[in-house]
Amino acid sequence: MFVDKVRITVCGGRGGDGAVAFHREKYVAAGGPDGGDGGHGGSVILRVNDNLSTLLDFRYKRKYSAQAGVNGQGRNMSGKRGENLIIQVPRGTVVRDAETNQIIVDMSTGEDFVLAKGGRGGWGNGHFATATRQVPRFAKSGTPGQERDVILELKLLADVGLVGFPNVGKSTLLSVTSNARPKIANYHFTTLFPNLGVIYVDEGVSFVMADIPGIIEGAAEGAGLGHDFLRHIDRCRLLIHVVDVSGSEGRDPVEDFEAICRELKDYSVDLSDRPMIVAANKTDILDPDSDNLERLRRAAEEAGCALYEISAGTAQGTRNLMRVVAEKLRTLPPVTIYEPEYVEPVAEAGDPSELEIDHLGSTWLVTGLWLERLIRDVNFDDYESRNYFDRQLRRCGLFARLEEMGIQDGDVVDIYDFQFEYQR
Ligand code: GDP
Ligand code: MG
Repeated sequence: MFVDKVRITVCGGRGGDGAVAFHREKYVAAGGPDGGDGGHGGSVILRVNDNLSTLLDFRYKRKYSAQAGVNGQGRNMSGKRGENLIIQVPRGTVVRDAETNQIIVDMSTGEDFVLAKGGRGGWGNGHFATATRQVPRFAKSGTPGQERDVILELKLLADVGLVGFPNVGKSTLLSVTSNARPKIANYHFTTLFPNLGVIYVDEGVSFVMADIPGIIEGAAEGAGLGHDFLRHIDRCRLLIHVVDVSGSEGRDPVEDFEAICRELKDYSVDLSDRPMIVAANKTDILDPDSDNLERLRRAAEEAGCALYEISAGTAQGTRNLMRVVAEKLRTLPPVTIYEPEYVEPVAEAGDPSELEIDHLGSTWLVTGLWLERLIRDVNFDDYESRNYFDRQLRRCGLFARLEEMGIQDGDVVDIYDFQFEYQR
C-alpha cells in the first residue's frame, strides 16, 4: 500500500530535574550543596533517507517522542542528556503545521531539521553553591519538550511527470528509457504508487522521470485514485502526456487527451500551465487507415504542445523523445522547493506573579514557564532580539516586583543561563 500523507505528533523529551543534595564526607560536619543539574531533553529531528519512497512507516505509529533528560544526582553529577530521535523521511516530504496547514519545512535539500525541541534540564542546588550564599535547599524541575502536530506529505522531486489514462503505456515508457522497473500489466491501475527513474541521455545529461498512477476522469473531483496522486506532479518541470493513439482500448485518443487536460486544469491552473509534450504511443499497432494520429496532432497543436510519435513497446522513438525532453528541460526553471510559511509565534512576557523568584544573597533567581519560552526564542547574539527581551521584561512588571522584594542596584538577576546586573 502506498501512503503519501500522514498526520503525526512529535514531542521533544522532557528535561531532567535538578537534584537537591549536600556534600557528605566523614569528619566533615556540614558539606555544601552538590545536587547536579538535570540533563536536557532530546529533540525530534527529521532526516532525508533516499531509500525511502513512501510514508508507510508512519501509518502505524503516530506519536514520536525523543528521550527525556535524566535527573541530576548528588556529588554534582549532571543527568545525561536525552537522546535525539531521528525520523527518516523520503526526500520531497513537505511538513505542515496540522492546525494552520502552513508549510514548516520542505525536506528536499537533505539538511536535517529540528521539528520539536527538547525541554531544558532543571538546575540542581549545586548550581547555586558559592561561599557567600545561604545553603539552597531547592532545585529546579526540568521543563517539558515542545509538542506539535504535523502533517507529512510526500511531493516527489521529479523533473518530468508522466500523465495519461491507465494502460496507455506510461510504465512501459519509463521502463524502456530508465533504470526503473515499474510493474507493467494489461489492466488498469497497475501502478499503485509512483515510480521514479533516472534517464541518462548523454554524458552528464540526465533527469528524473516519475510514473504516477493513471488519472481517471473525475479524478480532480476526488473520484478514484487520480486526485491524490496529482500532487506528485505538482513539482514537475515538464509533463509528458502519454496517449494511446491506436485506440486499442476502444477509446478515442483525442477525447482522452482533452479529458486529461481538463483534469489537470480542475486540479490546479498552475499544473495545466506546466509545459507539456504529447507522446502518441502504440504507433506499432496503429491502423494505417485511421485518422487518429492526425486528429491528435491537431488537438495537441491547439493546446500548444509538441507531439512525438513513439512505441514504448518496441522502444521506437523513445530515445529521441528523451533527447527532446532533456533539451527542453535546459530552458525550464528548476524543481520547486517550497518556502516555509509557518512562523513560530515569538513568545511574549506573561504575568510576573506566575514567576518563581528565589533570593540568594545578592542573586535573584527567576524562573517560570513563560520566561523559559521567552528565553528560548531570544537570540542573545542579536541586538534587536536582546532589546525585545529587555522590553518584554520591563513591560510585564518583573522589575517592579523585584524592587518590591528589595533588589538593589548591582545585584545579579539570574534567568536560566542568562545573567545580568540590575540597574534601575
Ligand atoms: P500504464 O498504465 O499507462 O502504465 O500502461 P503500461 O505501461 O502498464 O502498459 C499497458 C499495456 O500496454 C501493457 O500490456 C503494455 O505492454 C502495452 N503497451 C505499452 N506500450 C505499448 C506500445 O507501444 N505498443 C503496444 N502494442 N503495446 C504497448
Ligand atoms: Mg503504469
